[in-house]
Amino acid sequence: MRVELVNTGTELLLGDTINTNAAWIGQRLAALGVQVARQTIVPDGAIIRVAIAEAAQRSDVVLVSGGLGPTNDDLTRESTAELLSLDMELNAGVMEHLSAYFAKRGKPVSEATKRQAMVPRGATVLPNAFGTAPGLYFPAELGAPLGWNAHLFLLPGPPRELKPMVENEVETRLREWLPDGASRRVLYLKVTGVGESDIVEAVEKQLEAIAGLDLGYCIRNGDVDVRLAGPSAAVNAGAAVVRGALGDCIVSEDRRIIEEVIVQLLTDRGEWVSTAESCTGGTIASRITDVSGSSRVFGHGWVTYANEAKQQHLGVSAELIETHGAVSEEVARAMAEGALKKSGADHAISVTGIAGPTGGTPEKPVGTVWIALASKNAETWAQKRFSPGSRDRFKLLTSQAALEMLRRRLMGIALRP
Ligand code: AMP
Ligand code: MG
Repeated sequence: MRVELVNTGTELLLGDTINTNAAWIGQRLAALGVQVARQTIVPDGAIIRVAIAEAAQRSDVVLVSGGLGPTNDDLTRESTAELLSLDMELNAGVMEHLSAYFAKRGKPVSEATKRQAMVPRGATVLPNAFGTAPGLYFPAELGAPLGWNAHLFLLPGPPRELKPMVENEVETRLREWLPDGASRRVLYLKVTGVGESDIVEAVEKQLEAIAGLDLGYCIRNGDVDVRLAGPSAAVNAGAAVVRGALGDCIVSEDRRIIEEVIVQLLTDRGEWVSTAESCTGGTIASRITDVSGSSRVFGHGWVTYANEAKQQHLGVSAELIETHGAVSEEVARAMAEGALKKSGADHAISVTGIAGPTGGTPEKPVGTVWIALASKNAETWAQKRFSPGSRDRFKLLTSQAALEMLRRRLMGIALRP
């Protein structure tokens, strides 16, 4: 099956917006075993019509993104109707969706918005749960008078609107049309605390021996996603290999990130976590509170950057800091235990380190960090790590390691040396 993309929007050509829709769609289709054959970017305007016609002539499926909005540079819907000589009709269902959408926000439906309820005759409306503009599907027959045989999908530009529409409306149809589409599956195993090359070493030989399995790795935010795609049986066999080799480092198999997993684990246990952060400046607390429902597991945390703050708020003794230095196992432990006591939480995570670029010494170079985890009814864990690099990266990797320490405790898994 030959699939082409047409991404519309002047902003994409100006470089103001990165064409993430193309990258994301490419990955989704690859998981179905379809490689996008060609991708075209065109600015807003009459050229959209030309680009769609050209792509449709040589394809089985054309996916178009952008230009479905209410502003007068949003021309995709009208251009397509003209191209296919289809009349536009007011669609009652879409009108209802628009009215409800705006009523919920206490706003009237504007004339410009009403344009979005105009649907070319013969096209199918693809509902948009996250915005106003519906998507549209034109079955291949509609292109027959022009000599094409391509199914055409018009999708909204904003990624948060496009993604669910592709998953729910496009992929389901593609699966029907693909010979083995129904049996194909994709699984993401999110691995943390192990580098990509170690993962490759641990699993690749065995995975490559599995017939029909497509394998991919993607590093993101301190994790590595191992992507297994192919017939169900091959994916299951691949998953068994990865679980066997890296089981205790698998954070999720449903794309959830570690903070989401932690909030779920704590919620299930009815437990609370607190944070005492120095060099991460609140990154750990921020990541936990990014998760909806985190108020059930996180009450408060501290950012104790200065030594005095560690003493005053967490009860770390001045002598301890004087003797061992602020970046030390002893101080990390005292911070975590202090936060545990003062917050009344069930677990407290602490970090103290040197983010750099200044402040390093030969014994404690930039990138050195101590992480500790204190829990009620368990011994305090402490671990030294070394993550040299930019401050951003240091904060990200340190917060990741701290969250991983907590995940291991909650899962009853030993700390990784
Ligand atoms: P549009 O529906 O074309 O007006 O697009 C609305 C917004 O969606 C744009 O301002 C961009 O921020 C975003 N957007 C449009 N196309 C893309 C794309 N191909 N990749 C990522 N974001 C996009
Ligand atoms: Mg636009």
